[in-house]
Amino acid sequence: MNWPVFIGTIVVGAVSAWWIFRDARGRDYNPVIWAVACVFSALTVSVFGTLAVVVIYLFLRPRGELFACPHCSKKYIHNLAFCPHCGKPVKKECLKCHDLMELDQDVCPHCGMRSA
Ligand SMILES: [Zn+2]
Ligand SMILES: [Zn+2]
Repeated sequence: MNWPVFIGTIVVGAVSAWWIFRDARGRDYNPVIWAVACVFSALTVSVFGTLAVVVIYLFLRPRGELFACPHCSKKYIHNLAFCPHCGKPVKKECLKCHDLMELDQDVCPHCGMRSA
């Protein structure tokens, strides 16, 4: 057993899993599966297996702007109506056209209706 390599592999696997879990959760994109893939590839292949998983993830993950949740201040991707971290609504529905708008907006960007 080569301990420095073994410990390095564990650290890279754990850090990648932690990072990918947070990023995937904010994008509502199977955070558990990706985190497990990081750890699994580190243990079965090597750090290069984990790096491959991270690169594949960067290609596949949903693209879009990330906003801070007004309730828990964690990041979520713009097109979600509910925060993936705390489950609270991050958008509200327009009473007239039923499209989604930001919580702090007073005027619907879709139809111009003023919300109460
Ligand atoms: Zn939240
Ligand atoms: Zn509207």
